[in-house]
Parts: sequence; structure tokens; C-alpha cells
Amino acid sequence: MNPSRLGIALIVSGPSGAGKSTVCKRLRQRRPGLEFSVSCTTREPRKGEIDGKDYHFIDRAEFQRRVENGEFLEHADVHGNFYGTLKSEIIGRVEAGKDVLLDIDVQGVLQVRESSKNNSLLGKCSECVFLAAPSFEELERRLRSRGTEKEESIRKRLDNAKSELAHWRDYDYLIINKDVEQAVKDMENLIEMLHNSTKRLEDAGFFQPLKKSLK
Ligand code: 5GP
Repeated sequence: MNPSRLGIALIVSGPSGAGKSTVCKRLRQRRPGLEFSVSCTTREPRKGEIDGKDYHFIDRAEFQRRVENGEFLEHADVHGNFYGTLKSEIIGRVEAGKDVLLDIDVQGVLQVRESSKNNSLLGKCSECVFLAAPSFEELERRLRSRGTEKEESIRKRLDNAKSELAHWRDYDYLIINKDVEQAVKDMENLIEMLHNSTKRLEDAGFFQPLKKSLK
């Protein structure tokens, strides 16, 4: 029996430096069927980043236009730049039974949580994972060793991390990223387990064979 089901919107979030992008990248390599939600951002592309693949790089005016058009599921000012998840990256895909991976910040998760209260599709599909570094010292070490941020940006990210850490209870799952391979395995196990959840099953048809066999 292979019942039809809605896809999972798997939201990976947590402080900058916890390893979200690395874990998400490896997970996508391991599970090619897992689609990635490409966010919009007003920040400058980093070396090697591709427009439309890593982010949709847009300017502030275009970002504002999309906010006013209601195109975002959530959006936030993160470390001084705007970031937002397009509804078009999520809705059609989960309705078609596809799993979608999101890498967003804590403010975004809180907004998705709030919207889920009035949006049953979002409520059924979204699963929030808090990815944490094993300690604050390790978070700082990782942020510095990345070498992508200036000192001012590192300080801002560390400051934000303190308030973000306080929100771990707003999430469904917690994964501590001591080791990337293990964190990716934990995510894969979680996805497998979530496939067995009844909350995204479309019940029409699912119980028919069962009902017949009971007659
Ligand atoms: P970075 O600039 O390092 O790629 O990302 C900075 C932060 O923005 C990360 O914490 C990342 O998860 C978050 N982020 C990326 N896309 C989105 C988005 O669409 N919405 C929100 N709220 N945060 C995002």
C-alpha cells in the first residue's frame, strides 16, 4: 500500500555558525529527491554563490515589492540584510507530495509557527529542526574559521545567537551538530520517521483496501 501524502517542509534553523548550510548541502547530496527552497536576499553574493541556486539575489526595492505583493511565507531582517521564503518555493511542491528543505533563521521559524495556526496546509507540512553547535565557544570558533565575515558581522551573529538559543523550545526537534556526518544521518533518520507520520496522509482512498478486506 502506498498512500498519497503531502510533502514535508523541513525547516532547518538555529544560530549562524551551527553548520546549517553544510548540513543542508550534504543532506541534499545524499537525498536528491529533497528539493531546496531558494530564498530571496538583499545581501551581496559571496564568492562561488550562484543566483537562483543559492539565493535569489535582489535589491531592497524588489524585496519590498515582493513583500507588498504577499509573495513571502515569511521574511526577516537577519544581521542587517533582508531574507524571505517565497510561497511559490513551498506550497505547490508539498501539495504534490514533494519534500522541501528550508534553511532559515529563528525569526522566520516563529513566523511560520504563527501562520501554521491559521493555515492547515502549513501546519500539516512544516517540521522545525533546531540545529545547535555543541557549545557557544564552538559556535564562535566555527564562525571565525569560516573566514567569510568581518569582525563586526561576527560580533553581530554571536550577539544574535544568544537570543536565538533561547527559542529552542519553539521547535519540534533538536539536533546537536557535534559531527557533520552524524548530524546529516540524524536528519535522514528524522525524514524517514516523518514519512510514517499520519498527519500528512490524504485519507481519501487510503482506507479503501483496508475497508474492503474487513467486509
Ligand atoms: P547567510 O547570509 O549566511 O547565507 O544567512 C544568514 C542567515 O539567514 C542564516 O541564519 C540563514 O538561515 C538565514 N536565512 C536564509 N534564508 C532565509 C529566509 O528565507 N528567511 C529567513 N528568515 N532567514 C533566512
